This record gives sequence, structure tokens and C-alpha cells, in this order.
Amino acid sequence: MKKILITGGTGFVGSNLCKKLIYNTDNKIICVDNNYTGRVDNISEIMNNPRFEFIEHDIIYPLEIKEKIDEIYNLACPASPSSYQGENSIFTTKTCVLGAINMLDLARKNNAKILQASTSEVYGEPLVHPQVESYRGNVNSIGLRACYDEGKRCAESLFFDYYRNYGVKIKIIRIFNTYGPYMDPEDGRVVSNFICQALRGEDLTIYGDGLQTRSFCYIDELIDAIIRMMGTEDSFVGPVNIGNPEEFTIKELAELVREKINPNLKISYEILPSDDPTQRKPDITLAKEKLNWEPKIKLNDGLNKTIEYYERIIRKKF
Ligand code: NAD
Ligand code: UDP
Repeated sequence: MKKILITGGTGFVGSNLCKKLIYNTDNKIICVDNNYTGRVDNISEIMNNPRFEFIEHDIIYPLEIKEKIDEIYNLACPASPSSYQGENSIFTTKTCVLGAINMLDLARKNNAKILQASTSEVYGEPLVHPQVESYRGNVNSIGLRACYDEGKRCAESLFFDYYRNYGVKIKIIRIFNTYGPYMDPEDGRVVSNFICQALRGEDLTIYGDGLQTRSFCYIDELIDAIIRMMGTEDSFVGPVNIGNPEEFTIKELAELVREKINPNLKISYEILPSDDPTQRKPDITLAKEKLNWEPKIKLNDGLNKTIEYYERIIRKKF
């Protein structure tokens, strides 16, 4: 039985990962989160499982664990632009940087493998399309997104220094836009926003002209890739892009969601946030080769499953 620690375990990706590992393995899962954007509700169904433990902790501060840990998935970090920017920006950078140091120290002490949830945001406003891992990016280091983008870039650099200097077994994945059940309805990211707006009968809010693009991966496929990455041989450390290469404009996404829920709803256009990337699409050649992984779930089908989830949540609330 392995002991697996997951930071950010009450969040969107983390809660899906905790459940997958509890239901599909006999390992012990230790979920660490300060519930900053996560919700204990997301893990309520496994809370009483004897192989599951929840520790409320902020990873900005060092973490002592008495048991020997075998693997760490470092997912803790606010991920929605509305939750990582502005008054939260310094907390975001601290979580990325101090959080990475604390988790890397824990991995070193335990001789554990550690996986970092990095992001397509390390490419900033990309001048190479689709984005390959060798592209070094185009990030505005003084912009509103820098707390997250530069924080995640610094975390990657720390991971590589712990690998080179101390031989810590690292894995880095760069996650592209992912959606699905257990993202907080108030999270603020585009898929949850459009679906929840449509279910509440509100206008769908497009920021800018809606011609910016994103490529959307369904959560189950991301979770599969994360677990595959942890299982690769020690010599493969990444970084590796994880995402669905099918690219859509935000306007196409809004129209698709509206069509599915209520074609009579209006679309309203709002100001585009600063440094919002114009286009984004992963090159997943490396993931295909090293993880034998490729997304198969079409946006249309993933949206149907996600809509079902929010219908249940929203009905429960009102
Ligand atoms: P989320 O906001 O739902 O989850 C993040 C979790 O981290 C929350 O439970 C939050 O409470 C916790 N957290 C934040 N700061 C913390 C701290 N200092 N100490 C302890 N816990 C803390 O976001 P998510 O979409 O689940 O993202 C998970 C990870 O994946 C993040 O690192 C994010 O950068 C990365 N990522 C996600 C996406 C995506 O599309 N979902 C894309 C790229 C990268
Ligand atoms: N967006 C939008 N309306 C919303 C939320 C987001 O038009 O209600 C846009 C946002 O400006 C960006 C894209 O959708 O261009 C994806 O935004 P999200 O916050 O989901 O993730 P990002 O890729 O920007 O981190």
C-alpha cells in the first residue's frame, strides 16, 4: 500500500484525483488543502473512508507528516484568473513558490516522487502555435497574470533544481484548460460560468470579441494522464503538455452551451481582462509517445456530462 499525498485535494482537479485513487487502488490518500478555493463538500463521499485522510493546511508553511510518503501530487494553487489575481496575487505567488519548496523538501525527506501541476500559462501570450514543450513562452512579467504565470515558471525551475542538486524524483505536467464536474459553480472560469449562467437563465458573458481560442479537456482524461505521468520511469521528468488539441473560439463555446441549455438566452460582451491569451492549443506529441495518452472525449459530450453535474448542484442550492 502506497501513501500518496495530494495538495489542493478539495479543489476541482484534486478532488477528482482523490476519488479516482481511493476507488481504483488500495493506497492511502492524504489530502492537504486550506480550502481557499476548494470545498470539503467535493470530497464528502470519501471523507469516512479508512484509507483517506484530510489535513487542513496552507502549503505556504512547511508540512510535517509522521508517516512515510511515497508520492506527492502538488496541485494546490488557485487556478481561476478571478481567484489568483488582484488582492490574492501575492498569496498566489507564495503558494506557487514557497508551496513548491515546502513540498519538494517533503519529497526529499521521504525519498518520494513528486508531480507538479504546471500550466499552459507558462507560455503566456504564445507566439508559437500549437504550443510545444520546447517553446519558452511570452509572459508579461509585470502584468496581472504574472503572479500565476511567473509563480508556476519559478516552481518548474525549483523542481528542476531539486532534481539536479538533490536527485529528487520529479514529474512536471503543463495542464491546458480542463473542465468538468466538481469545479466550483462560482469559480469564474469560462465553461462553469457559461453553463451556470445558462442554467440560471442569465446572459452568457463573453469577455472581448470572443474570437480568442482555447482547447478544452474533460477532467477524467486529465486525471488519467496525471496518474500515467506519475507511473512513468524515473528518467522521464517532463515537462509534458496535457490537454485536448481541439481548438474552439470562446464565441463557439458560448453558442454551443446556449444551444444545449436555452437557445433564447442572450450573449453579452464585456471587457477583455488584460493579458488574456489570444490563442491556445497544446501539441501533445510527447504525451502520446511517453504516456500513450490522447483525449477522446469530444467537447460536445464532455459538456453534456458537465451540464448534468451543474443541474444537480444548482437544483440543490435553490
Ligand atoms: P482549484 O482552485 O479548484 O483547486 C486548487 C486547490 O488548491 C483548492 O482546493 C485550493 O483551496 C487549494 N489551495 C490553493 N492555495 C493553497 C495553499 N496555499 N495551501 C493549500 N491549498 C491551497 O483549481 P484546479 O483547477 O483544481 O487546479 C488545480 C491545479 O492544476 C492548480 O495548481 C492549477 O494551477 C493547475 N491547473 C489547472 C488547470 C485547469 O484547467 N483546471 C489548468 C492549468 C493548471
Ligand atoms: N471568458 C469569457 N467569459 C467568462 C469567463 C471567461 O469570455 O465568463 C474568457 C476569458 O477571457 C478567456 C477564456 O474565456 O479568454 C478562458 O478563460 P478561463 O478563465 O476559463 O481560463 P484562462 O484560459 O483564461 O486561464
